[in-house]
Amino acid sequence: MPPPTPPFDKFTWARVDRATPPKRAAGDRLQDFSEIYSDFDEATVQAQAARCIQCPEPLCRQSCPLSNRIPEWLELAAQGRFMEAAEVSRSTSNMPELCSRVCPQEKLCEGSCILNSRSDPVSIGAVERFINEYAFLHGGFDVEVEPSNGRRVAVIGSGPGGLACADELNRLGYAVTVFEAQMIPGGLLVNGIPAFKLDKSLVQRRIDLLVRRGVEFKLGVRVGWDLSLDDVRRNHEAVFVGVGAQRPKPLDVPGAGLRGVHEALSFLVQKNVKSPLIEGDPIEVEGRRVVVLGGGDTAMDCLRTALRGGAEDVVCLYRRDLANMPGSRKEYANALEEGARFQFLTNPTEVVGDANGRVVGVRCVRMELGEPDGTGRRKPRPVVGSECLEPADLVLVAYGFDPVPFPEGSEFARIALDAWGGLKTDRNQMTSLAGVFAGGDSVRGPSLVVHAVRDGRLAAAGIHRYLTETKAAAVLG
Ligand SMILES: Cc1cc2nc3c(=O)[nH]c(=O)nc-3n(C[C@H](O)[C@H](O)[C@H](O)COP(=O)(O)OP(=O)(O)OC[C@H]3O[C@@H](n4cnc5c(N)ncnc54)[C@H](O)[C@@H]3O)c2cc1C
Repeated sequence: MPPPTPPFDKFTWARVDRATPPKRAAGDRLQDFSEIYSDFDEATVQAQAARCIQCPEPLCRQSCPLSNRIPEWLELAAQGRFMEAAEVSRSTSNMPELCSRVCPQEKLCEGSCILNSRSDPVSIGAVERFINEYAFLHGGFDVEVEPSNGRRVAVIGSGPGGLACADELNRLGYAVTVFEAQMIPGGLLVNGIPAFKLDKSLVQRRIDLLVRRGVEFKLGVRVGWDLSLDDVRRNHEAVFVGVGAQRPKPLDVPGAGLRGVHEALSFLVQKNVKSPLIEGDPIEVEGRRVVVLGGGDTAMDCLRTALRGGAEDVVCLYRRDLANMPGSRKEYANALEEGARFQFLTNPTEVVGDANGRVVGVRCVRMELGEPDGTGRRKPRPVVGSECLEPADLVLVAYGFDPVPFPEGSEFARIALDAWGGLKTDRNQMTSLAGVFAGGDSVRGPSLVVHAVRDGRLAAAGIHRYLTETKAAAVLG
């Protein structure tokens, strides 16, 4: 059926059903690591954008960590003014084409769309993706950059937080150098999130834009180890630390050290990033029974990566129920379609091995949900006598991440930390070291791309304020 055509009005939502972008069939997408969604056509974008009722106090905008001007660009998109729509979208986000692909919209903008009470929400993520890809295709992606102000700032870490901060500071006329420990820049956008959710060339396209505008990337430099923070500070007037939190939380049961037990991120990097520099023995999944432990985005990505690797059976064990699972619902549905199994309210008590020290199964206990804990989530507790065995050849542990500790005695170690080990920051994202700012997962714990972008933007504004004020004070004093 052809999509509805203009004129659109405030009640378009009642005539036009919500559409989601075309998705490849599960059997087809298991054959490769390519993205599974494609774009709407122009007429569909217009009709979908026109479903927005233009609320006077848009809840979508309020629930977006970047306060994206969603109704404004939806209105422009509905009128077919895609380039202008993309320009408005870029005004609050440094990587809207990436966020549109990886944001859990159902928990953020789309989850709070007022239409949820009467119909289905506007397909905000799909429109955001379309208008920004359209802009890239038609040469409209660049931004105004101020003339050089002769001041140098360092960014440590090239994840979304670091990239957003570098982008903002470059626009303000700063000379920005990004130090990245890995040889491939992009942080978890590249070295974590699989290509079937986010094509790696799109991250590189963003980085190329920054390089063209003069941002310098120093790859393979791990600050605190290869180069001291002292040295970085000596050569730069301010520093942004966006080093993420990538130390895997361990599996703490007997048998966790058996052959065939791996932490999730090493597995994902190995299967998703094609580079001779990736370390470690290959983790083979073909024909194997794979058990994934955990219920977050990392677990969903492991399940779907194992299925693409030809695993015979892939099952997720999660100690709470679906309603309390932190992973994105969209990716849960995609994992189910692709053949993953889920065992909720199930917790491992032991990894069982054979005489050669290789995994053969995971002993589990069933759980039930008790009273809410401090975070408001109901606390799982074991059901006595409910033990069972899940056969397995490979166990992938996706229990979340902690910060990587800085070397003792390094200047990093002087930065005040919170109870979890995250870098403490003030309202401007400045740490306890003057001129050293921080954001993203290294501050807030494992979170979302859009939160890291927000922190990077706030930190850039904080750095600009700090350097402008120190310069003014120097002139006066
Ligand atoms: C498997 C997986 C899937 C995810 N899926 C999603 C998703 O679908 N949607 C979503 O919104 N979020 C997702 N996330 C979370 C998201 O990726 C992170 O919240 C986000 O990338 C954090 O950004 P960041 O800039 O703080 O750090 P990171 O992206 O972790 O980047 C930090 C960078 O700093 C570098 N670095 C570390 N130490 C040093 C040092 N000493 N010197 C120099 N460089 C250093 C690292 O090499 C890395 O490149 C996922 C996370 C994982 C692990």
